[in-house]
Amino acid sequence: MFGRVPKKSDNTKYYEILGVPQSATPDELKKAYRKSAIKNHPDKGGDPEKFKELSQAYEVLNDPEKREIYDQYGEDALKEGMGGGGGSSGNPFDVFEQFFGGGFGGGFGGKSGGSSRTRKKQGEDVKQVLKVSLEDVYNGITKKLSLSRNILCKKCKGKGSKSGASSRCYGCQGTGMRVTTRQIAPGMIQQMQHVCSECRGSGESINERDRCQQCKGKKVTQEKKVLEVHVEKGMQNGQKIVFEGQADEAPDTVTGDIVFILQLKEHPKFKRKQDDLYVEHNISLTEALCGIRFVLTHLDGRQLLIKTNPGKVIKPDQYKAINDEGMPQWQRPFMKGKLVIHFNVAFPDTGFLTPEKCKNLATILPSGGPNASSSDMSVDDCEETLLHNVNMEEEMRRKEHLRRQEAYDDEDDDEDAMPRVGCNQQ
Ligand SMILES: [Zn+2]
Ligand SMILES: [Zn+2]
Repeated sequence: MFGRVPKKSDNTKYYEILGVPQSATPDELKKAYRKSAIKNHPDKGGDPEKFKELSQAYEVLNDPEKREIYDQYGEDALKEGMGGGGGSSGNPFDVFEQFFGGGFGGGFGGKSGGSSRTRKKQGEDVKQVLKVSLEDVYNGITKKLSLSRNILCKKCKGKGSKSGASSRCYGCQGTGMRVTTRQIAPGMIQQMQHVCSECRGSGESINERDRCQQCKGKKVTQEKKVLEVHVEKGMQNGQKIVFEGQADEAPDTVTGDIVFILQLKEHPKFKRKQDDLYVEHNISLTEALCGIRFVLTHLDGRQLLIKTNPGKVIKPDQYKAINDEGMPQWQRPFMKGKLVIHFNVAFPDTGFLTPEKCKNLATILPSGGPNASSSDMSVDDCEETLLHNVNMEEEMRRKEHLRRQEAYDDEDDDEDAMPRVGCNQQ
């Protein structure tokens, strides 16, 4: 919710509730409020809801700072500030201040002279890749990760000094930044701005004797912390697990989040496609023709018996699926995808069958044995051919290489360039 700039929206409602024009002076507002408040006061039989509305409208419009925000951004802007407060019984606008303080540089009301409120900036989120196995996201797992982070010094509460007093940093005159110049070429000067090293960008310096013993004036100390990261069933690659406000703490800063980004490791056996699991399975020609029966160990260690009835044929490259044995769905782990088995049929090598055995086999297998396709025409009318083995992948690679080489040569007119086309032909 932080970082979103509220849209210019309805900013007349409060004026309507009080029954005044938008140009109303503080005095007119006060009078209108008093009149309505007396009329609608619950003690005098008024509607409590109406009275609350009235008070709320007046509370905002009576405060020049809040009125300015309301006029510019409407009620939503104020509500957003309250929503983030969590138990916003105190001052609901604190969070709002932080939001605008960081987002708009100077912030509102800064002009109205010597505002003592600190403007908080938004701290950085810490992003961390968390590698998980397919077993982890199938079964769910809690991973304990220890980290060390900066927290505000407990002794000085992040002030850096015993008294809380500080003076302007001499090194940067309180700006937190220093500018250095250097000559990079005759007549050319480069100007660089960097964070002041003396005050580390805070713009203030603390008297040595006043310095906090615990943090040595740095305002923060290191804390070791163990995070329990719950990797839930069915989470996807790239999914984020967020620990809000757990990143490094710094003075006057809204602490950022620690964000774990899941990175799913490759599995040697199973591949995941959304909620489905894919597994490769090699079978023999006999199994392909006569049926299969094998045990597959699942990601949770269960042993699945996978079988077909005798005589059921599986073709090369065929897919078969088992329902509800795929990946569990995130947040609905009882819903599961399919387990898809891709069958590769291993054919026997050349010479496995003698001509004698071929004849026998041909009596069992469907027609299509030797000479079947040429039976209706005379062999003498045909030309003799010779079949040889070819590696198509290799062939494609070579052609692609040639094609690229040609494109490269066209592009590049350098005549000295040696065409490397020839090397493949050795
Ligand atoms: Zn300290
Ligand atoms: Zn400084």
